[in-house]
Amino acid sequence: MSQTTDIGRPDKKIKLEIAAFSAQSLYEKCQALANNLWWSWNPEAINLFRDLNPQLWAESGQNPIKLLKEYTPETLEARAQEITLYSRINQTYRRMNEYLEARTTWGTNYAGPLGAKPVAYFSAEFGIHESLPIYSGGLGVLSGDHVKSASDLGIPLVAVGLFYYQGYFNQRLDTEGYQNQEYFETKIDEQPVEPALDVNGNPVKIEIVTRTGTIFAEVRHIRVGRVDLYLLDSNVEGNSPEDRELTARLYGGDNRTRIRQELLIGIGGVKALNAMGISPGAYHLNEGHSAFAGLEVIRNLMHEDGMTFEDALRDVAKQTVFTTHTPVPAGHDRFDNAMVDEHLGVLADDLGISQHDLMALGRVDPKNDGETFCMTVLALKLSRRANAVSSLHGHVSRAMWAELWPWRVEEEIPIGHITNGVHTSSWIAPQMSNLFERYFPAKWETHLMDSKVWQHVYEIDPGEFWETHQTLKNLMFTFVRRRLVEQCKRRGESQETLDVMARMFDPDVLTLGFARRFATYKRADLVFSDLDRVIDLFCCEDRPVQVIFSGKAHPADEPGKKLIKRIAQLRNHDKLGSKVAFVENYDINVCRHLEQGVDVWLNNPRRPMEASGTSGQKVVLNGGLNLSILDGWWAEAYDGSNGFAIGNGRRHSSDELTDKRDADALYDTLENEVIPMFYDRDSLGLPQDWINCMKRSVGTLAWRFSSDRMVADYVQRAYVPAAGGKSCEMPF
Ligand SMILES: *Cc1c(COP(=O)(O)O)cnc(C)c1O
Repeated sequence: MSQTTDIGRPDKKIKLEIAAFSAQSLYEKCQALANNLWWSWNPEAINLFRDLNPQLWAESGQNPIKLLKEYTPETLEARAQEITLYSRINQTYRRMNEYLEARTTWGTNYAGPLGAKPVAYFSAEFGIHESLPIYSGGLGVLSGDHVKSASDLGIPLVAVGLFYYQGYFNQRLDTEGYQNQEYFETKIDEQPVEPALDVNGNPVKIEIVTRTGTIFAEVRHIRVGRVDLYLLDSNVEGNSPEDRELTARLYGGDNRTRIRQELLIGIGGVKALNAMGISPGAYHLNEGHSAFAGLEVIRNLMHEDGMTFEDALRDVAKQTVFTTHTPVPAGHDRFDNAMVDEHLGVLADDLGISQHDLMALGRVDPKNDGETFCMTVLALKLSRRANAVSSLHGHVSRAMWAELWPWRVEEEIPIGHITNGVHTSSWIAPQMSNLFERYFPAKWETHLMDSKVWQHVYEIDPGEFWETHQTLKNLMFTFVRRRLVEQCKRRGESQETLDVMARMFDPDVLTLGFARRFATYKRADLVFSDLDRVIDLFCCEDRPVQVIFSGKAHPADEPGKKLIKRIAQLRNHDKLGSKVAFVENYDINVCRHLEQGVDVWLNNPRRPMEASGTSGQKVVLNGGLNLSILDGWWAEAYDGSNGFAIGNGRRHSSDELTDKRDADALYDTLENEVIPMFYDRDSLGLPQDWINCMKRSVGTLAWRFSSDRMVADYVQRAYVPAAGGKSCEMPF
């Protein structure tokens, strides 16, 4: 629309045109905000969409693109007038543009050598917001937080993944508590995506040739603040119905689906970057799923620069950073000879290597023909820098892969660690952040990894800190009750039951939260190991305990589903029924509500199976305390007075014995530390020791386990050296 108005025209017409122009532009500003996921971690943008139409906002699943479809430029203008959103829209739009165009960031000082050659960050899932369902759990949310921090810090980084058009699944429990899965198609026109364009301005089209045919894909582009996220989509013309479904669901299908998905991310991802004219300075493989990427880069180096395979491999390894997340051998993708030959045979021919040499790249022992092809092994061989995701997981990973370097002692196995962190503004409640704002120095949001910033938490008035926490706790109960009522309604339960659900939970009672994937090693039902003891603890007259659960089991994981069923059925228990609830359909939205409201976050994996875990880091930001096995991040985070430890990190001769000892330790810690401290009140009703512990938790952990610190570590210890630059000093 033209901005010029003809002065010669009658006044009325000019007015109309100006009105039409500004209506359009207000609408366009909202569109621009909705089309950059920056909005998802900026409360002023979120509030703006919500206030536009609270009911539609909720019904849309907090999806601004869907919300805006209900408006024309004119009706939006009218609505904005009605509720005086005008200046808020303008101001938020201006703030986003200032953010996007900022000249000086942490990255301009510390990621200089990456310059015009960005990091290419590959991940099979990205958890950025609940309205973009292309994640299943912790790994995805970690990738999402990584990308957001890369944006905040101004790191030149592009992200590559898959566009799953059915996402993971919606979880529904039946009356017995058994998990059912439902799949919904994501409507593409309700997502903040546009086609990625090649150097000639045409939509990128990818072809991957296998021995049995060609797989086609297109690429979708999503803006996450300053970072571009590119997602391959195989649901395109030219593909067989089977291949069109490759990018339908996360972790669905069989082994053949899996290798084809991994072909798409790795090989397809590198082809897409090439087509767009992006030449990365470093490659980051977040987990082994994308390890084929290195082979495609080798092919390019051989064809374009005439390198030998060996030289190209050395160059690629120099540029590649690999992060492993899986401490159990069974968790690593493996493929047999036939599967590898079908999918990579053509590429191997191109590289001039034999099928045997190709297989050797995925084998611990290159000569062992009986060994399957392992993606983690490939990733380790194609990367000079490899890391685990916590200190303890570093030890586990070095022991696990020691055979790859038989001439080295374990401490010298070249796998380091960079501990995971979480994206502060995505997980902190606005109420808590407003409280911090009043005590913290100006611009603290851009210095989140600076420990000094967080020391101001000790100045916060204890009553105010507690009150803010109580407010958030009540908001969580409101959310949970609404969900419980909805669940029961759907199952056609009685009005009486609905009324009970609508009143469940007492805000003065110590409230635990447990929410994550229901993988069996996480032992969701550990706290119910000894029902008599639980009843004694939870139903104690003057110091009761209540607990909220949520989480999905993988559709094929029957033992995981059994855990859900066991916990869901406790609602029928005469004593525990009023103390335990299960919220269905765990996602980022449920997670956020629970993280922001619980008193205590419970985490009891079988050590050392939890590589890092990040959910406990989110609760820290909101004043919640961790009660956790000394595993993953908590093994290095717990200092004796910033939360609670379950046990002493010892392992026992069998899983059964370990589970028994850990359950006893959990009860002991609850009984002797957590419950007494929570209920010990001063004359004003404040739990002073507890509040001090909340402050210690924030002051010692919030900066260390922020994804800004994590990304800064990757930049300085991995990306910059991988791109051929010199590491710089840490700024703090
Ligand atoms: C943070 C997060 C996780 C990670 O939880 P862990 O306890 O670390 O396994 C999983 N799912 C969602 C939706 C999350 O936000």
